[in-house]
Amino acid sequence: MDVNVKFLGGAQSVTGSRYVIEMNGFRLLFDCGLFQGLKELRLRNWDEFPVDPATIDAVIISHAHIDHTGYLPGLVRRGFNGPVYCTQPTADLMEIMLLDSAKLQKEEADFARRKGYSKHSDPQPLYTEEDAKAAFVLFHTCGYDEKVNIHKSVDFIFRDAGHLLGSAITEVFIHGEKQTKKIVFSGDIGRYRQDMLQQPTSIDQADVLFVESTYGNKDNPYVDPTTELVRIINETFDRGGVLVVPAFAVGRTQGLLFYLRTLMKEDKIPDVPVYIDSPMAISATYLFYKYPGYHKIKTTGKELAQEIETNMLVFVKSAEHSKTLNDIKSRAIIISSSGMMTGGRIMHHMFHRLKNPNDTFLVAGYQAEGTRGRDLLDGRKTIRMFGEEVPVNCKVEYISSMSGHADRTELFQWLSNFKDKPKMTFCVHGEGVGLEMYAQAIRDRLQWNVVVPHYLESVNLFRGI
Ligand SMILES: [Zn+2]
Repeated sequence: MDVNVKFLGGAQSVTGSRYVIEMNGFRLLFDCGLFQGLKELRLRNWDEFPVDPATIDAVIISHAHIDHTGYLPGLVRRGFNGPVYCTQPTADLMEIMLLDSAKLQKEEADFARRKGYSKHSDPQPLYTEEDAKAAFVLFHTCGYDEKVNIHKSVDFIFRDAGHLLGSAITEVFIHGEKQTKKIVFSGDIGRYRQDMLQQPTSIDQADVLFVESTYGNKDNPYVDPTTELVRIINETFDRGGVLVVPAFAVGRTQGLLFYLRTLMKEDKIPDVPVYIDSPMAISATYLFYKYPGYHKIKTTGKELAQEIETNMLVFVKSAEHSKTLNDIKSRAIIISSSGMMTGGRIMHHMFHRLKNPNDTFLVAGYQAEGTRGRDLLDGRKTIRMFGEEVPVNCKVEYISSMSGHADRTELFQWLSNFKDKPKMTFCVHGEGVGLEMYAQAIRDRLQWNVVVPHYLESVNLFRGI
């Protein structure tokens, strides 16, 4: 049996993760991400899918982030009709996130129609809410450490990746006539020290490894984020301002709530209203109560709620309520998404508050090239939005230790668990010179055979197994 992989994204980019594996006429798509960030990447979402979706037999999803799942409704719209394997929390999170993504697609098409900037007279969304719902019925959920058979010669097992609620490292076993081969997809790997999720599971063997590279060239040592939070929050309030945190709705927001609650209890920051201005973040918070087995906070749902909900927590459900937050002048914390400031309600907070010198924007996660979040971190004096150049007069702060990604040291810690060298290691889900340097570091330190694949490159993994 021959086994081939084709890199349909997440190759020299941190978005659009998707890899198709072909063996004996069985086509397995691993992850189904949306391209985000730079325009040249986003345009790929509109290209004809490189493999006819109707010919794909199954999809495996590592975790619910949009850069790993956001094209799934598009795949269904274009003919895919097979099973989508994922963990139960990933399925629930995808239902929230893909509906939100469909809504953003529609808003973008409507905006293009109104402004007439599309070359089409009637611009269409990439996919609709109906397409997203059609994807949900294809979900097949399975737990960690459970062997799942998906084809007469293919099984897989999910292991906890510690990156996001329900996130998985995936071991795929391909049984040939003579032998069995194992492909490991790291997915996104979490941190070894974190307060809410478990450590990433150690894997000790793979014939072929796909390893993520987000922070492959960057150390991001664990620092207790509460010290920085105390300083940033108190400085903002001393200036009479409001703290805005653009946060990934799932994971980061719940982590922040956990710290804010602790700091208020310890009187290190004043009791101020904390607005969760993201319907997605609100729903995701409930999933932490629903799946106590998927995180470390071992309490009942009610106690967990008390643990992460500050006494002044306000869930902002409607868009109208969200707009009224613009009137708040001081002593409040607004947590809103999207985390990379590419869309969603954070946009109007940016529009109103970037120009205010008293306010603070706290960036707490990875910002891909080409996003407004990256522009803000790079110290741009103005940010383009809604057709205007908005001046950045506010204070911009950055906390890196709340990242959900393993840093360079932790990635090497995870890689060091392999007892033998994988025959081939692909560095995926990374970008720029850092990606090449990470690949070289693996070659130098571990003497592994490492490849940095190109977009749409095909590689034969095993010949005649
Ligand atoms: Zn992720």
